[in-house]
Amino acid sequence: MKRMAVLTSGGDAPGMNAAIRSVVRIGIDKGWEVLGIQHGYAGLIADNVVPLGARDVSGVIQQGGTLLGSARCPEFKTEAARLQALRVLGKHEIESVIIIGGNGSQTGAYALSQLGFPVIGVASTIDNDLYGSDITIGVDTALNIALEAIDRLKVTASSHERAFLIEVMGHGCGYLALMAGIAGGAEAIVIPEVETDPESVATELRSAYERGKAHALVVVAEGARYNAAALARYFEEHHERLCFDLRVTTLGHVQRGGVPSAYDRLLATRLAADATERVTRGEHGVLVGLVKGEIAATPLTEVVANKKLLDPRLLELARVLAK
Ligand code: ADP
Repeated sequence: MKRMAVLTSGGDAPGMNAAIRSVVRIGIDKGWEVLGIQHGYAGLIADNVVPLGARDVSGVIQQGGTLLGSARCPEFKTEAARLQALRVLGKHEIESVIIIGGNGSQTGAYALSQLGFPVIGVASTIDNDLYGSDITIGVDTALNIALEAIDRLKVTASSHERAFLIEVMGHGCGYLALMAGIAGGAEAIVIPEVETDPESVATELRSAYERGKAHALVVVAEGARYNAAALARYFEEHHERLCFDLRVTTLGHVQRGGVPSAYDRLLATRLAADATERVTRGEHGVLVGLVKGEIAATPLTEVVANKKLLDPRLLELARVLAK
């Protein structure tokens, strides 16, 4: 029987399990034997390969994280490690691998495909910084978790007339902070894509109070030069002049562990099903994502050569809506 494999790599994202389940069940339906590679590229090199049947993916669609485990494997950047990966794939007679992950993982997928091995990527990262997919698996759930935290902080901020800083994840990308800031009605948003200095944040907050707002909420992306800790330090150091007490909440990994939303479950199921169908048709070297609302494949060469940019219209929208 023909064999294909699936692995999850990099940061875990809610919906990865739905994607694995989809690969397994669609793969079996198309006549494949499906194997799971545990712990990302680290497990691939170490030969952590297990068979996956339809019952092995029962009850996982509603769980965050990934049943296969994920890992960061810096070693995979070396050709020696990738050649070892080829040996493991050959030993198990695996014909094709589906790689579920974000930017780094798809760069690894590209490197493997450059050695002639058939791979297909599935776009999955809460950061939403992957070229080739308007939105990636896990973003919606992470965004809803950030939003819930913002809504709750706003209640207490209004009651005490305090300013709150909330830091959300996203590596070097401000997407989550920007969208959570817009949806949560933040007074200011600080993201890596826009150089923001603490004085301008202070001006925004002061002007919000002068306009009669009872609360002030700043959403900060972890990758911004002035992240929550740096901003809080600055406000503390200049307290006499700025006269603001900023309370800091850092969401961190809490944002990743959520129960996948309906949107993420469906996105993951559909992208992974499409990837599996492409494998069956003999396609490879592409990333499956959502492009202008449709499921589409983008060559991995294009994915690794391009950077996904934030829509500047959203930045302007956030600025005007905070008035
Ligand atoms: P994500 O996929 O969520 O962006 P990382 O950036 O941590 O996560 O990347 C996950 C893994 O992908 C890395 O630990 C490494 O094994 C692999 N990877 C990243 N960059 C490369 C690269 N340039 N070449 C080969 N493999 C890479």
